Amino acid sequence: MEADRVYNFNPGPGTLPLDVLKEAQAEFLNFNHSGMSILEISHRSPQYEAVHQQAKKDIKELMELGDDYEVLFCQGGASQQFAMIPMNFASGPHKGAYVLSGSFAEKAYKEAEHLGVGTIAASSKEGSYKHIPQQEELQIPSDAAYLHICCNNTIYGTEYHYVPETNGIPLFADMSSDMLSRPVDFKKFDFIYAGVQKNLGPAGVVLVVAKKSLLERNADKLPTMLRYATFYKKDSLYNTPPVFCIYMVGKVAAWIKAQGGLTEMARRNEKKAKILYEAIDRSNGFYRGHAEPGSRSFMNATFRLPSEDLEKKFVTEALTHGLSGIKGHRSVGGMRASIYNAMPYEGVAALVDFMEKFRKENA
Ligand SMILES: *Cc1c(COP(=O)(O)O)cnc(C)c1O
Repeated sequence: MEADRVYNFNPGPGTLPLDVLKEAQAEFLNFNHSGMSILEISHRSPQYEAVHQQAKKDIKELMELGDDYEVLFCQGGASQQFAMIPMNFASGPHKGAYVLSGSFAEKAYKEAEHLGVGTIAASSKEGSYKHIPQQEELQIPSDAAYLHICCNNTIYGTEYHYVPETNGIPLFADMSSDMLSRPVDFKKFDFIYAGVQKNLGPAGVVLVVAKKSLLERNADKLPTMLRYATFYKKDSLYNTPPVFCIYMVGKVAAWIKAQGGLTEMARRNEKKAKILYEAIDRSNGFYRGHAEPGSRSFMNATFRLPSEDLEKKFVTEALTHGLSGIKGHRSVGGMRASIYNAMPYEGVAALVDFMEKFRKENA
């Protein structure tokens, strides 16, 4: 680690690979011999066009998807996707069916409900979102427009460890906080989106990867910028895209490839999550994990301490050990360690050492 940097456990915007930040810094003032910063050149220039196409290509390659899928760069955050999806794809009796597994899954459902086209396929809300609803809990109407899931629940610290079987109903997924963190059979999904600021880049762009057959659908009653067909037909260049964000996402995708792809990301992420959950489990109840063990997230580990006073003390002391962003979301309380792709093993090992020390001093 660089002397003046900390281990950044923030949930999003989250930590980015140091190599990527340095690369961007090195070419910041003169991008690709243009004599200009990437922030200053036209989104129609050949220099930017190359960045745009390479990012799309690398993402599709990492996901092992073919010509029947397209990559889009949208704006408005994952939150705008919550509204665009039902607007574009649900209508009348063909409702969007939602699995409620956490706060963002609930927000996605609320947008569909607001439009009168949402229905609930399963929910773990009554159990404080400690588990991911399993296949046998799902009730998907046979005329549903799609089934929507949230693969990783950033706030509660739970993650899907299976891909739902939908009997032909298109599968839609919010992968904001675990996109490209592990190999997934992405072909089983019809529509995937991710706000990139969790695991893939800076805030400002949403990655959409979806079947072309869905994107072609012309929802012509909708405003231009709320139609996926607009983004699809114009290659996400109908209006000015967030060029810097896309450039950074492209760099992160290239970094993932260079590290060994999604298999290597999964190997690292599992190793980090393992030592962290082990530290929780061997603490004799001093640290209490929020998620049920079978639903634990490899990206966000949530846990409580014996009292709120100790939790405050933990956050303050962690910072003096170079461990930042560890405070949990107010709806769960306690701690949340976000250990995305760019969090090095050493960072999690340092957190685990600190947890042991803190427990001995305060138990
Ligand atoms: C952060 C997050 C969102 C919201 O993303 P915005 O880009 O802030 O709208 C949605 N879903 C998940 C899973 C998230 O982690």
